[in-house]
Amino acid sequence: MLRVAVVGSGPSGVYTAQTLVEQSVVPDVRVDVLDRLPCPYGLVRYGVAPDHEKIKSLQGNLRTVLEDPRIRFLGHVEVGEGALTPARLLELYHAVVYCVGAARDRHLGIPGEDLPGVYPATDFVSWYSAHPDAATDSFALEGVRSAVVVGAGNVAVDVARILARGAEELRPTDMPQPALGALAGSGVREVRMVARRGPSQGRFTTKELRELGALPGVAVVVDPAELALDPAYADPAALPAVNRRNVEVLRSWAEAGPPAAGARLLGLRFYLRPVELLPGPDGRVGAVRCERTLPDGPAGVRGTGTYEDVAAQLVLRSVGYTGTPLPGLPFDPAHGTVPHEAGRVLRAGAPSPGEYVAGWIKRGATGVIGTNRPCAKETATSLLADAPSLSARSLPDPLPALRAAGSRPVEWPGWLSIEAAELSLGHSLGRGSVKIPDWAGLLAAAEAAG
Ligand code: NAP
Repeated sequence: MLRVAVVGSGPSGVYTAQTLVEQSVVPDVRVDVLDRLPCPYGLVRYGVAPDHEKIKSLQGNLRTVLEDPRIRFLGHVEVGEGALTPARLLELYHAVVYCVGAARDRHLGIPGEDLPGVYPATDFVSWYSAHPDAATDSFALEGVRSAVVVGAGNVAVDVARILARGAEELRPTDMPQPALGALAGSGVREVRMVARRGPSQGRFTTKELRELGALPGVAVVVDPAELALDPAYADPAALPAVNRRNVEVLRSWAEAGPPAAGARLLGLRFYLRPVELLPGPDGRVGAVRCERTLPDGPAGVRGTGTYEDVAAQLVLRSVGYTGTPLPGLPFDPAHGTVPHEAGRVLRAGAPSPGEYVAGWIKRGATGVIGTNRPCAKETATSLLADAPSLSARSLPDPLPALRAAGSRPVEWPGWLSIEAAELSLGHSLGRGSVKIPDWAGLLAAAEAAG
């Protein structure tokens, strides 16, 4: 029997586990999928926006994998801190695959970033996704009229959409009740996404972009003059398909008439590089000072020395994610990833027997959920090729040793119990399933499984 630990139960971890058991090269592979949280699914549960039901429904596929009898989910097990070091895991398993993601936000590195009212978009996402590390009262929105989202990726689109859309439309989702209440009391009338480059360099995908134009009561505003600055705007045919379609969608908004009276405004601004966050009269953030940029060379921009202050009482910086080092594992700070070769962890430049990576901690925070499939497959293929040299030892069930190391694992019945508690919480609120947003509530629900 080959015993493998997969650390992280997001898509990359689950796809890795699936590839390891659904193959015929190595017989009898058993996989424990460990997660720091008592709940599985990683960013599908705690990153995908609650109103993206179709992507969320991927949880059903991940569930089928985790219910495979050769795979065991062990939530609420933290690796790296305390006794459960990578070295200890390698004693308990023949191989360990780290699929721990890259959940830390990147900074802008400009003055004023610490002003009250300035947050990483990741905090906002965690809050509306009921991540138990996010305080339920993290965001008060009643005093906010204008919000700015810095960045032009899919996360920027997600947070701008959640800020702009009406709380009533979010009621059918599993958004936690405190976040839904804060959004219902929101004073936000204007949301602006600010991109330092041009419309043809937006990193968002067209489906996500287009969705902004279909939000009831929301008018998307794009300045034709900013589009016209982009050299590719006149001839988008030369662009890659996704960028061409993005430009076409933006053009349709720029050509639309004035916004309907009373609509919330969702503006997309281009060629504006934030250089400073300015305080308002109350000491909280009041505006984002941006330098106007202009196209310069292939997809680059240069500053012009002219500035514009964009009003904002709330600023979310959404400029990408990066990995964090896991104690005991090598880390490449320049890329925010673990150094590897075809998924084999490299220590001092050489593959470390039995240690692997997959997902964002392997390749950086890029791609959509499906990108994790080939990524996981590459890693699993390396592991299976190494299996003969890894599996010489006979290993007992690691669960007692995990408990001895201080873990109180939440097993699959515990997770199902959390799911049931979320359904009954939702019913008590006249809603569908509603997420439990705190550690105590999650663990109490898990314990109800006995
Ligand atoms: P991203 O796609 O890398 O976008 C980051 C954005 O931040 C870019 O517009 C970038 O501009 C900008 N930026 C970076 N540094 C900046 C700076 N110092 N000042 C101003 N702007 C700066 O990152 P993301 O939006 O966090 O998304 C991460 C991954 O998750 C992506 O692969 C994304 O597609 C995926 N995702 C997918 C979905 C979905 O499919 N629905 C939803 C959420 C996330 P430049 O281009 O100029 O560098």
